[in-house]
Amino acid sequence: MLAAVFRGPGELDVTQVEAREPGPGEVLVKVGANTVCGTDVRILKGEKTSGIVSPVVLGHELAGHVAETGDGADGYEVGAPVVMAPAMACLHCYFCRRGMENLCLEKRIMGNIVDGGLAEYVLIPANAVRAGNLFVAREDLPSEYLALAEPLACCINGQGNYRLELDDTILILGAGPIGLFHLQLALLSGARTVIVSNRSEERRNVARELGAHITVDPSKENLQEVVEDHTEGLGVDVSVICVGKPELVNDALRATRQGGRVNVFAGLAGEGWSEIEANLIHYNELTITGASDSRRRDYDTALRMIESGRIDAERMVTHRFPLRDTERAIQASAAGEGVKVAVLPQQEEISE
Ligand SMILES: [Zn+2]
Ligand SMILES: [Zn+2]
Repeated sequence: MLAAVFRGPGELDVTQVEAREPGPGEVLVKVGANTVCGTDVRILKGEKTSGIVSPVVLGHELAGHVAETGDGADGYEVGAPVVMAPAMACLHCYFCRRGMENLCLEKRIMGNIVDGGLAEYVLIPANAVRAGNLFVAREDLPSEYLALAEPLACCINGQGNYRLELDDTILILGAGPIGLFHLQLALLSGARTVIVSNRSEERRNVARELGAHITVDPSKENLQEVVEDHTEGLGVDVSVICVGKPELVNDALRATRQGGRVNVFAGLAGEGWSEIEANLIHYNELTITGASDSRRRDYDTALRMIESGRIDAERMVTHRFPLRDTERAIQASAAGEGVKVAVLPQQEEISE
């Protein structure tokens, strides 16, 4: 089968590899789509190295159909549409036992340590099947929509951390796929005013189409002033940083009202350092939270939100590539083209 194999920074090989038969408890999935994530870009550039082995087949946002099942992999019928929650937690460490499996000490992530979805087929390990990481989708939607359950699940976990409440005002810094998911979730959760900041006009337009009340071009407008204009001078209840630019942390701290919440959702570029005006936290009694990965329950919620159409998946997927063009797909994602880029391993040509 064809697979996109990561061999080290800058080295991605789309090549023939041996397809394995499912052993006891394993499920072989014919990949319909694997959407590209900022993490894939960072892995390929060599910016993310922890928890990554090579060679490994990249791809952790995947959906497809059951191709074959091993003995004991009950509940999965050949041909059923499935999606995979790629973070396989140990289920018995300190964090797993306390319901924080996204922070598992022994977590193994598909596409990082275990071969992932940028391939014609992907083998789901028996422990992941047993743990329920492989979800049967109720609706047979295009795989590239179902694959979005992964990034959406991470945003659902993040929203839980910043505890958005009815009638809140929220500033979303960044209108890439992650920012646009937070926007949609905020509207579903009853936010009064959603302000989205992004330099790209194309992405601001998408944000408005998806329901953003206010969009801001921070290269031309004063973000702080726009926020004050729409919050009676107070600042927003919640700010979410959805782009890995360290300077955004201060923007978020300044835009948030006293007693408000700031979430550092994106992993920051480089070493992850940001020089911040910590007195804003002190005097304004701000609460700062992070967000890392997701739990199976977030994934379950995300999948149902996509299936029911409450999350607009169609508007999110703008680019499609065949598997042999995986490198181009990752470059398109890195360049911020469109919104979400999908690789469709079962299609030789994509006409669009
Ligand atoms: Zn991802
Ligand atoms: Zn664990």
